[in-house]
Amino acid sequence: MYEFCTICGTEGPTKEVRPNTAHNFGCSNCRATLRFRALATSILTNFGKGRHQNLQRAVKSGDFDELAIWELSLRGPIKNILSKSKNYINSYYWEDTKLGEMKNNVICQDITNLTFDDNQFDLVLSSDVMEHVHEPWAGFEEVARVLKPSGAYIFTIPIRIPFRPTSVVRASLDTKTGTITHHLPEVYHNAGDGSDTLVFTDFGQDIFERLRKLGLYLYFQQPSTLSQHSNRFGAFVAVKNSN
Ligand SMILES: [Zn+2]
Repeated sequence: MYEFCTICGTEGPTKEVRPNTAHNFGCSNCRATLRFRALATSILTNFGKGRHQNLQRAVKSGDFDELAIWELSLRGPIKNILSKSKNYINSYYWEDTKLGEMKNNVICQDITNLTFDDNQFDLVLSSDVMEHVHEPWAGFEEVARVLKPSGAYIFTIPIRIPFRPTSVVRASLDTKTGTITHHLPEVYHNAGDGSDTLVFTDFGQDIFERLRKLGLYLYFQQPSTLSQHSNRFGAFVAVKNSN
């Protein structure tokens, strides 16, 4: 497949590695797969002022320097580019690190209990993180709190199109005892640090209504640059109500 990378601007053929997944068609230069390029497209269309076709150009122009950006990621193709803008931070959750403390230039944060102030960020980013949060709705509520009015949380989660009607709880965690109860067969993904991480939630259509109640106007954006695969993938954009 011939594609254009919305992260680094490279044009050329990409290879299908694992059929039918968003972890596919990596860019020949920056290796960004479909889900990261979907995120980049949504970042550009919401924050690029129509001036840039790829993230690298947007960051080089200085247009993103005025944005307070927080990404929930240790590493990755978005971080490689966006971390060159002036007000970018990234976070990760380590059990052995105090919340709010830095470890190798990365801030330790628990998305359900953030140390950030209210109305702090213009743009919050995550890629396939929320399905691993044991209380995802508390996480969305915290993101809504730390976003500035009109700011946006742009994220990917594994989804099925058409959406399943209701989100499914695959597992739950008793925080007092640390016991995990599995309601469905266990599914694990690779975490950013190479370890396996459990999927707690399969999200469904109810995410739109639940986020609206948290003051986030949510829509699903499917980028046309993903060519024939654009009907299967996309990024969610949650804009904080400004009243
Ligand atoms: Zn690229």
